[in-house]
Amino acid sequence: MKASYDVTIIGAGLAGLQCARLLSRQGVNVLLVDRKNTLDQKIHTTGIFVRRTLVDFDIPDDCLGPAIKHVTLYSPALRPLELVSQHDEFRIGRMGQLYQRYLQQCLHSGVDWLPQTSYLSHSVANGKITLRLNSGSSTRSITTRYLIGADGARSRVARDLKLEVNREWIVGIESVFQGAVLDGPPRLLCFLDPKLAPGYIAWIAHDGEETHLGVGGYPSLFDPMVALQDFRSRVANIIDLRKAKQIEARAGLIPVGGVLRNIANSNGLLTGDAAGAVSPLTAGGLDPCMRLSAFAASVVTEYLSTSDVEVLQAYSGELFRSRFASRLWARRIAATLRHSQLIELGCALLRLPLFSRLGHHVFFGRGSFPDVTDRSQLTIVSKAFPH
Ligand SMILES: Cc1cc2nc3c(=O)[nH]c(=O)nc-3n(C[C@H](O)[C@H](O)[C@H](O)COP(=O)(O)OP(=O)(O)OC[C@H]3O[C@@H](n4cnc5c(N)ncnc54)[C@H](O)[C@@H]3O)c2cc1C
Repeated sequence: MKASYDVTIIGAGLAGLQCARLLSRQGVNVLLVDRKNTLDQKIHTTGIFVRRTLVDFDIPDDCLGPAIKHVTLYSPALRPLELVSQHDEFRIGRMGQLYQRYLQQCLHSGVDWLPQTSYLSHSVANGKITLRLNSGSSTRSITTRYLIGADGARSRVARDLKLEVNREWIVGIESVFQGAVLDGPPRLLCFLDPKLAPGYIAWIAHDGEETHLGVGGYPSLFDPMVALQDFRSRVANIIDLRKAKQIEARAGLIPVGGVLRNIANSNGLLTGDAAGAVSPLTAGGLDPCMRLSAFAASVVTEYLSTSDVEVLQAYSGELFRSRFASRLWARRIAATLRHSQLIELGCALLRLPLFSRLGHHVFFGRGSFPDVTDRSQLTIVSKAFPH
């Protein structure tokens, strides 16, 4: 452990790990801090990666389950709509393994790793940031030139840096099984039902090896634990869990207000859920983690070498946010859809040839988080995520 670092990253989820890997490869002196003891604990994502992420990033094959091409969308009355892609669209990440692998890569390229340590606060004097970190009973101070908040949906770093904070969430909760029996190929099953999942969906993600069964929605509108139990009973005729073994329970908040506007200043920046970088429509956050963190690493590297604050202006949520206008509208509509009959009607329309392309577009279409490797031209390259 050194007493001083170029960059300290709080949070070793996908966003923090991606940032740490890329910064350290540029020769930046990085400290990575997480309150978790090991990264395969308390995972709070289903871990579904979309095709575009798999194509654009180096996610190790052995940290991913079998490919999925089939999606079934169920109406509240459980009428199915089958959607099949020509491509391998999704793969469920083995997230504990992936986090550990990325951490190994970080350590290999010189990142200092501080597990079981919570960020408490920071102060700024003479261009240096002093962090207060707590490990168990002891509190220590570390100085850093720049601070990155990759500390999730309720970011303490965002608050302390006086950047914007998330204000709108849905909550997601799921059980992970091995040995579930579901006829047919690996598939995602998405259930629209305003009682089980108000403002979002219930899902079964089954890749033949692992099965994730979950519900999500606005926390003020349902009891997630009760909804998950009800959902499990409701789908007893669709998936056979009688001999399945539950291997994990996962849960977490998902910010759905869109990427925040003010996510960087001369002391630090935000990435991943801390920056609100989640698709407001589909609530997919893994692709944004990879893309925004790659961009953050490039901006921070340049800022450290030039000390030019104008470099940070490129890292503005405003630029990304304009790309999300239609998805923010779709989120507003989803938030108000409380009537099963209306959703049933919408699902019936999706079965008509005229509207079926919309279903394909939402599940298999392109265009989620802007690709920001070329800063002069923010282009949309990733795809919509189904849940
Ligand atoms: C139930 C659920 C299912 C989901 N499924 C999908 C999916 O299938 N596909 C998809 O694309 N997206 C999905 N999402 C969204 C996606 O998982 C998130 O957007 C993504 O994981 C966010 O990663 P992150 O690194 O920004 O934050 P996190 O993974 O939340 O990491 C933040 C880290 O910061 C640490 N931390 C926080 N505060 C402190 C502190 N004070 N001191 C030290 N450490 C701290 C935490 O311990 C944590 O390790 C899902 C979300 C939920 C809740």
